Amino acid sequence: MLELEEARRRILEAIQILESESIALSNADGYFLAEPIPSKIDLPGFDNSAVDGYAVQSKDLIPAKNAAPVSLRLVGKIPAGESFVGQIESGQCARIFTGSPLPGGADAVAMQEDTQIDQQTSGQILFLETVKPWENIRFRGEDVKAGSTLAEAGTRLGAGHLCLLGAVGIENVRVFRQPIIGLLATGNELREAGQSIGPGQIFESNRIGLAALAKRSGATPKIYPLVSDTLEATVAALQKAFAECDAVVTTGGVSVGELDFVKAAFEKLGGKLDFWKVSIKPGKPFVFGQLNGKFLFGLPGNPVSALVTFILFVAPALGRMQGAKNISWPTLPAILAGPLENRGQRRHFMRISLDEKGQARSIGTQASHILSGLSQANGLVDVPPNATLTAGTIVPVWRLD
Ligand code: AMP
Ligand code: MG
Repeated sequence: MLELEEARRRILEAIQILESESIALSNADGYFLAEPIPSKIDLPGFDNSAVDGYAVQSKDLIPAKNAAPVSLRLVGKIPAGESFVGQIESGQCARIFTGSPLPGGADAVAMQEDTQIDQQTSGQILFLETVKPWENIRFRGEDVKAGSTLAEAGTRLGAGHLCLLGAVGIENVRVFRQPIIGLLATGNELREAGQSIGPGQIFESNRIGLAALAKRSGATPKIYPLVSDTLEATVAALQKAFAECDAVVTTGGVSVGELDFVKAAFEKLGGKLDFWKVSIKPGKPFVFGQLNGKFLFGLPGNPVSALVTFILFVAPALGRMQGAKNISWPTLPAILAGPLENRGQRRHFMRISLDEKGQARSIGTQASHILSGLSQANGLVDVPPNATLTAGTIVPVWRLD
């Protein structure tokens, strides 16, 4: 039996990054960058006002106070998107708005709240407070300098990156193609939602959960019809899925039962199996294989095992295919509210619920067919073999939400 890390290492070594493509920034949420992105411009592109107020020479306002305001001549108005022609001289001010370019000659902006219109003399503004040199000014290039790197290759683009790249005028980005992942469920007992179920039959529920995880990993899931437990049906289903997808994920049919056909069908198609047992719980029967540069992930049928093995093995593989810089699943430290006991010989990835105080507790029974617990779980804790993690222990939690 392989250890988890060894299995992951072998998978990641085998995986090739997919080709890159250029796509519109507006479609790039969730994609991984194929190259670093330098900025062509400074951000902000010009010195500008951080507030609505008046551009001034700060030295004019040194004596300003509530009881003895300083009066300055209003010489212009600079709405956002326009700029001031000329210079602000001593004794003058210009009306300015947030984001408007700072006029030449001015070295500060007095906030509107600290001013009044001079009722005595028209065209004059009264200033009730001093202002420091360069106060309320946003400087050219203080956010981003032209030539600096905005995001590294392998970064997964999210809302913040999209704003930043949009702000420097980028229209298209080169990203790695997102893999298409075929999802197959095997088992004679399985029925589709909407079908009637007879004795011994169950509704199929793995593909929908795995599709959700695949999407979160940046892949496009493709759900295939149910596969019955025969060699011919499994060969035909795998053949179609391998023709249409970059990788294929199956559930069920990878144990040692005489109705488990995934391994045999895959080999019949010419696939090369890399291993099939990993020392973890849930999910001991796990298959990884390669066929013409594409990959098979054969997951156990139990829904909990299927989801956990997807997180442990398939998600990092999908990250690698997309050139991800960071392929580990996100973890958070948490404090155990109660003990987690593993009496078995294999590492147990226990489902826990993590509350807003950072406390993690078991969702109850950890058997791999318990779906109600799975729905309440928002994390996994890796509990070593023959060990009890006591209440109060700080553990990394693999986030599920
Ligand atoms: P298997 O790995 O095929 O031996 O299946 C193990 C257990 O998981 C059995 O109880 C199956 O009925 C159940 N199971 C297998 N595939 C699915 C599926 N796609 N949806 C729900 N349960 C499943
Ligand atoms: Mg089965």
